[in-house]
Amino acid sequence: MTDTLTAFAQGKIDQLAASSLLRTLRPTGRRDGVFVERGGRRLVSFSCNDYLGLSHHPAVKAAAQAAIETYGTGSGASRLITGDNPLFAELEARLAALKGTEAACIFGSGYLANAGIIPTFVGPGDLILVDELAHACIWSGAKLSSAQTVAFRHNDVADLSAKLASLRGEAGRTLIATDGVFSMDGDIAPLDEISRAARAHDAWLLVDDAHGLGVVGDGSGTAKLFADARVDLQMGTLSKAIGGYGAYVCATKPVIDFIKTRSRTVVYSTGLPPANVAAALAALDVIAREPERVAGPIARARRLTAALNLPAAESAVVPIVLGEAETALAAARDLEARGLLAVAIRPPTVPAGTARLRLAFSSEHTEEQVDQLIEALRPWLPR
Ligand code: PMP
Repeated sequence: MTDTLTAFAQGKIDQLAASSLLRTLRPTGRRDGVFVERGGRRLVSFSCNDYLGLSHHPAVKAAAQAAIETYGTGSGASRLITGDNPLFAELEARLAALKGTEAACIFGSGYLANAGIIPTFVGPGDLILVDELAHACIWSGAKLSSAQTVAFRHNDVADLSAKLASLRGEAGRTLIATDGVFSMDGDIAPLDEISRAARAHDAWLLVDDAHGLGVVGDGSGTAKLFADARVDLQMGTLSKAIGGYGAYVCATKPVIDFIKTRSRTVVYSTGLPPANVAAALAALDVIAREPERVAGPIARARRLTAALNLPAAESAVVPIVLGEAETALAAARDLEARGLLAVAIRPPTVPAGTARLRLAFSSEHTEEQVDQLIEALRPWLPR
């Protein structure tokens, strides 16, 4: 006899499988920044966010190893108890300098960052306006805050302004939240206009720049692309171009001090392992020493978008939207048979009817590898 919990789970799994929406894990070894090992085969990956290949950079690995030798594998407690290894302050100072803010706070992950930051500043009676394509963890943070949460149309400042005008009056504090570089579309938010709208309506602006750091502009992310943009909360991760794990937010010192004393995902969660912090510092050193690396991912992405007559890539991410989940899965299987990994992204990660291959480019991809991908994709492109 099956218990009701197991029966519930099995029923859900069957439903998802019937609509090609079941997700399963595939053990995947990554021994360098470009190739992955899956199912006994070696594939060129266009699905990793390791945009600069730094997860396997010798200096980054050496820094992590040295930190393990000195400090061990874990932080031992929340940062507010005994987990605030001295490397945290060093990394926070580096990130604040990079972003041009007074201070920064490190989080365990990007998900934990947005889930922690948003409820720290807004709550019941307040308003959050979120770009409809913003990352899932921004929505989770909004939900945790219990503030009224309203989506605005993707990158549509007129819609945002209209919603600010109609809803702002009733609300207490108001927060606008968006990705800087959109994770599944690779396009960039119009931060100067969004920030102007925010100021006009006395709203705060949070930008998640997980996919901007190390890739966009001079490598410091999207905010600096916009001369006028004032981003109150500059959030990002250490898990993409930085090649490791963890996240940060940069802001004024009082904002950061308040986060450190009140954000639940800082207060009640163990500090990152010191090795992650050391690796991030070393990765930032590599980027500072070799700034030319930063141009690599977008150059490769543009090589593909030009060859396939797609809009020019704005970031390291290029979506090949195929429509139904089954089509995206079939395309991914076809590419995999050709030695290329481009994982199918399906709802609810992307809106229904926009299942896609989400391509992510690295400075470590060769032109030949990109050209191989271009040829493999041609038969799948809508005519
Ligand atoms: N924000 C964005 C835009 C992301 O794409 C991701 C993850 N891919 C996250 C936040 C979550 O970051 P993490 O993986 O460090 O939890």
